Amino acid sequence: MFALKEIEAKTLLAHVRQPDTWFGLKYNMNLYRGCEHQCIYCDSRSECYQIEDFGGEVLVKVNAIDLLRRELARKRVKGMIGTGAMNDPYTPRAERRYNLTGQALEVIAQLRFPVHILTKSDLVLKDLDTLREINRVHAVVSFTITTTDDALARKLEPGAPSPSARLRAMQTLAANGIHTGVTLMPVLPFIEDSAENITAIVKSAAAHGASYIIPAFGVTLRDRQRAYYYDRLDKLFPGLRQEYEARFGEQYHCPANDADALRDLLDARCREHGLVTEVSHYAPESAARQLSLF
Ligand code: SF4
Repeated sequence: MFALKEIEAKTLLAHVRQPDTWFGLKYNMNLYRGCEHQCIYCDSRSECYQIEDFGGEVLVKVNAIDLLRRELARKRVKGMIGTGAMNDPYTPRAERRYNLTGQALEVIAQLRFPVHILTKSDLVLKDLDTLREINRVHAVVSFTITTTDDALARKLEPGAPSPSARLRAMQTLAANGIHTGVTLMPVLPFIEDSAENITAIVKSAAAHGASYIIPAFGVTLRDRQRAYYYDRLDKLFPGLRQEYEARFGEQYHCPANDADALRDLLDARCREHGLVTEVSHYAPESAARQLSLF
């Protein structure tokens, strides 16, 4: 059971280095520190982030909504606000109890900023009405899905809702006019880097209303994140750690097997299903035109 610990943050919104070609963000916010989804490959375990008890507690920034309201009111540039970089904004117990993501979205809707949510959770649907309101400016929800096999996902992302649940949530969002798609990252070497897996993800995403897939064929590993990942490999996939060690040694970037061929395959399958491989970025001029219609 995760401990929820209340803290006061000094600031909330961080500027994202430009250009952010992957997610199109100008600002990023983390309402929580720590994440109950506990993906075995999570980069937030890396030493540089100094999250000492990643497996045991979530820090809740209880003054986040006041900070957000104040900081957004001072922004002259209406850039895309992202959430979901170092934790999932729908980390379940914390969000059900504190509703910080839900409240933050209400502030974003009131102040008419665009948003891009990155999540592995169907809990996002609790905020559907607010997202519809934000979508009068621009709202995007990306679901991370790296396998359509619920049993495999249970091993890799033990605290997160299943890929099936994420796909159903995607379908609901798409039916409500929200721009939604898949972040296909990381594609884990030796586990998820098969043509069958990539093809199944594209087909499922297209069938559930996705309009894009953003891929990264490989995983990054370092210090205590790598140690945790290897420990889980020993328990879940005996013998696989040795293959990683032989292939990658101490290197940070660990590409998927046949990464270039998988990229070509993804591009071809996406074309077949009418998907693109980038997310639509926020354009203030078109948003102004859209708002003038209301
Ligand atoms: S959902 Fe994201 S932040 Fe949470 S454990 Fe998984 S990879 Fe880490």
